[in-house]
Amino acid sequence: MRIRFWGTRGSLAKPGPSTIRYGGNTSCVEVRAADGTLIILDCGTGAHDLGRSLVASGERPIRGHLLLTHTHWDHIQGFPFFAPLFIPGNEFDVYAAQGLGQRLEDTLAGQMEYEYFPVTLGQLDATIRYHELSEGVFDLGAVHVTARYLNHPGLALGYRLEAGGVTMVYVTDHEPHSRHQPELTGSAQMAPVHHEDQRHVEFLAGADLVIHDAQYTLEEYPSKLTWGHSPAELAVDFALTAGVKRLALFHHDPLRDDVALDRVVESCRLRAVGRGLDIFAAAEGQTIELAERDTVAPGAATQPKTAIAKGVEAESATILLVDDDPDIVRLLTMTLRPEGYRLLSATDGNAALEIARAERPDLLLLDWNMPGRDGLEVCRILRAESDPDLHNVPVVLLTAQVGAEDTAAGFTAGVTDYVTKPFKPTHIRSRVHTWLSRKRAGPEGT
Ligand SMILES: [Zn+2]
Ligand SMILES: [Zn+2]
Repeated sequence: MRIRFWGTRGSLAKPGPSTIRYGGNTSCVEVRAADGTLIILDCGTGAHDLGRSLVASGERPIRGHLLLTHTHWDHIQGFPFFAPLFIPGNEFDVYAAQGLGQRLEDTLAGQMEYEYFPVTLGQLDATIRYHELSEGVFDLGAVHVTARYLNHPGLALGYRLEAGGVTMVYVTDHEPHSRHQPELTGSAQMAPVHHEDQRHVEFLAGADLVIHDAQYTLEEYPSKLTWGHSPAELAVDFALTAGVKRLALFHHDPLRDDVALDRVVESCRLRAVGRGLDIFAAAEGQTIELAERDTVAPGAATQPKTAIAKGVEAESATILLVDDDPDIVRLLTMTLRPEGYRLLSATDGNAALEIARAERPDLLLLDWNMPGRDGLEVCRILRAESDPDLHNVPVVLLTAQVGAEDTAAGFTAGVTDYVTKPFKPTHIRSRVHTWLSRKRAGPEGT
């Protein structure tokens, strides 16, 4: 498996003398498996040079799979400039998480409308197929792909690619779930307490290479909470806990010049000293070879198997919002109503239980601190119900508490996840989609 970085920058392209070593183009990574399968991870401005290189290679027709983490600008701006899409006979399959609003094809067409770009999506000459994903697994040629939701204020997927006994994981635009802040200096943290962070570690487990969001430093992070990106130091901690061999820091902040990025790498290496993890900052043009041990003959089937979204309509989901603060209920209602959900609300624990038993919601967003029965108590009562709809319903606690002990107490009581106040509407939207999608897939569906 050969991996090449064509764009390593996050948020905004930043070309110029101060970013010349690590590069100024936004996210785009080429993966070529030993069987010839071409996978392109994200299509930021780096895709421009990748496209030119593919065309110059003389390969005809060019066939590839474009796996988008999500459709924020820095991950799709290279799409209309990706030359192979303009050549008849070429074939591309484009994959991204199924959102709630428009289809993937329409989202990509949006940035190519007449007001923004001279060529429309429909005028591209290559054959392009669009696939909307949920969490799950599928095969592209000899590459086994696992898709997993990330924590970002836009619905995003990370991808784990395995072929010939080697594994690489691409997780950019992801923020740790726990708000518990480790010490600024010192060595790496122990295994995470938050269940969602534990899932993240499982997703990275044993990889030969992890390309991880590392937009901020731990020092900068407190002012960037909920922006959906990781401090580099915590990417190191996750990689160490997951037993990863090599860690590529990725999605470099547009404000971080080459010299500053060198310093980030240095402090990350210090944090992991003696632990056998190779840490570097991904640089545009850099190539990494992971030697596949057992290769599969070229031309193997390329049909995705199971991760294609099931297309369940949003209107079918009922969400119960419980908070004694009317402002929070109003904010959640304003955020979720346009998505087409059926919303119910309550202002205390007893009313919440009554409504839950009568209406069997698909999801509860539940305040921790309420007069009378608090959120933890409501969750414990639901988990003790014999009705499987109530016993298994996802319960997400809304809380201002961030301590590791509080987090652990919540998971012991059976909560599915946490949202820490204050939160952003975009974050709530993408998380609600994740919880509902996992509920539909069932407990074994991920
Ligand atoms: Zn990004
Ligand atoms: Zn993003």
